[in-house]
Amino acid sequence: MKLQLRSILIVPFVLQIFVTVGLTGWLSLRNGQKAVENIVTQLQREIGDRIEQQLNDYLQKPYIVNQNVLDAINLGYLNPEKPRSMDRYFLREIKLFAEVSVIQIANEKGEFYGINNFDEEGLIISIIDRATGYNNMNGYATDSQGKMTQKLIVSIPNFDPRRRPWYVAVATQGKSIWSPIYAFRGSTQLAITLGTPIYNQNHKLRGVVATDLVLLDINRFLSKLKIGKSGQTFILERSGLLVASSTREHPFYSTAKNQTLQRLPAINSQNQLTRLTAKFLQKHFGNFNKIKRGKKFIFKINSDRQYLQILPYKDKFGLDWLIVIVVPEKDFMAEINANTRSTIWLCIAALGTATVLGIYTSHWINQPILHLAQLAKSMSQRDLNQQVSQGKIASALRSHITELNTLAEAFNRMANQLEAAFTNLEQYAHTLEQKVADRTAELEKANQELQRLATLDGLTKVANRRYFDEYLVQEWQRLARAKQPLSLVMCDVDYFKAYNDYYGHQGGDDCLRQIALAMNRAVKRPADLLARYGGEEFVVILPNTEIQGAVSVAQAIQKEIQQLKMPHAKSDVSEYVTLSLGVSGVIPHQNLAPEKLIATADEALYEAKKQGRNRVLFKSLIP
Ligand code: GH3
Ligand code: MG
Ligand code: MG
Repeated sequence: MKLQLRSILIVPFVLQIFVTVGLTGWLSLRNGQKAVENIVTQLQREIGDRIEQQLNDYLQKPYIVNQNVLDAINLGYLNPEKPRSMDRYFLREIKLFAEVSVIQIANEKGEFYGINNFDEEGLIISIIDRATGYNNMNGYATDSQGKMTQKLIVSIPNFDPRRRPWYVAVATQGKSIWSPIYAFRGSTQLAITLGTPIYNQNHKLRGVVATDLVLLDINRFLSKLKIGKSGQTFILERSGLLVASSTREHPFYSTAKNQTLQRLPAINSQNQLTRLTAKFLQKHFGNFNKIKRGKKFIFKINSDRQYLQILPYKDKFGLDWLIVIVVPEKDFMAEINANTRSTIWLCIAALGTATVLGIYTSHWINQPILHLAQLAKSMSQRDLNQQVSQGKIASALRSHITELNTLAEAFNRMANQLEAAFTNLEQYAHTLEQKVADRTAELEKANQELQRLATLDGLTKVANRRYFDEYLVQEWQRLARAKQPLSLVMCDVDYFKAYNDYYGHQGGDDCLRQIALAMNRAVKRPADLLARYGGEEFVVILPNTEIQGAVSVAQAIQKEIQQLKMPHAKSDVSEYVTLSLGVSGVIPHQNLAPEKLIATADEALYEAKKQGRNRVLFKSLIP
């Protein structure tokens, strides 16, 4: 598999960034979620603790009031059989405990004394006794000192305190106990009453002291708790009915049918979070009674995670509630999500930057390499023209990458060396060719000279005996085929021994050279050959020449020698150097040896010597 440098540079780079940024983003999101979970859990625990503490504190008030009243009775300061004796004590207590709405006492005779603390109306005192006529409750307004000032028009007939739920519950259970939650005096507020029994020494019930709490206060402090941005908390009874809510939602709803007020089950809440949370709990447990201990949940509303915490709340007087704290995750995730979004943008930006940088870098690295590669290619094709090499290397050298620069420089040096080497090689080849040519010419010349020397006589520079033999055989055969005549002229210098003796050997040699030159002047046809036969004897081969023609050549030679007028003091026939010549001729034949012709010419020469020298004689060869 072949990869482009560009992909090698970009892909790992981009992948690395992608993985790193992606992983970082994912981890930060996950850590963020974890941190949020921790914070929310901690927050829920703290909120839960605070609610419990507040509830403890708040719900303890009626118990304290009841206990105070009971103590005063036991100590004999107060008499349950005389309800009006409570007036100053109850006034003091209701002023001491602002959370408490009503303090009341009822005895077994059906007498009743109560003090109500209504914010708007001030303190109102309610009394049932002999003076009011049993079964009739009279209400009185009070002054700032708590003294009854006027009888209120409002008077409740047929009110038997012994049939009130708080009295009944205490009477049957025989101990302090909470009443069920009820609508406070027909108002739109929920209230709850703690009743405490009053016994005599025989453990006979004398009456009940009871204190009311309006649960609005719980709503108030729940709503003051800050639970994230939109987190909420509410309190349920095991029946699923709403007790209080941080949203301060009205805990009643009126049925359209008979306009009566009904307690609101949490699953019917107007508030979505309250409603869905309650529904989730109901679905999860089937029944609110089944929730035994505190528990944490994460559930979803429209894919938004919600942290949910439930805490059962009980006290020794029979209260059995559920505290619910629910916090939407997005209250805390907003910043983390913004962080995640910026991480994603960062990721995209980093990817883009990495890609652009990768492309740029690869181009940056690629370009000089490409040039070098092209250059190497053209070099390999022996296409080293100046422009290509200089242009490409120059651009490669412009690279800011040290390694590439080094490579380009090395390449440049190599190219220059190669160029020089090529040039040298060319020059060398050229000189070598020249040398070979020169050498060949010289050799040829030497060869020619050698050949010439091989066929020439050293002294006289005419053909030598060897060449004469060769030429004679060659012409003999040729003329035998052509049936043409061939003649020979044999010449011998007269009295040459004496000449040598007289003029010296050197003189003799000079004389021989002169004779050869003179003879050559007489031998005219190209095919004719003058040769030195040996010593002071010369021979002439005359192809295509009849014997008469040969005789005339011989006479022409004699004439040339005479004209030389070379003095010969020791000659008996002349005062100059002379020759004797023997001529012979024949039409050569395959069965006739050329030596025969030589012998005949020799015989003619011998005859010429014998007849007195300095003459030409001829003798035909009769085959
Ligand atoms: P004839 O007239 O009978 O021919 O008398 P001759 O003296 O010429 O007799 P012959 O031909 O026998 O003598 C040959 C002499 O030629 C012998 C030698 O002294 C001389 N001679 C032969 N070759 C050379 C040569 O190359 N140089 C010189 N200087 N002399 C030569
Ligand atoms: Mg001789
Ligand atoms: Mg001689």
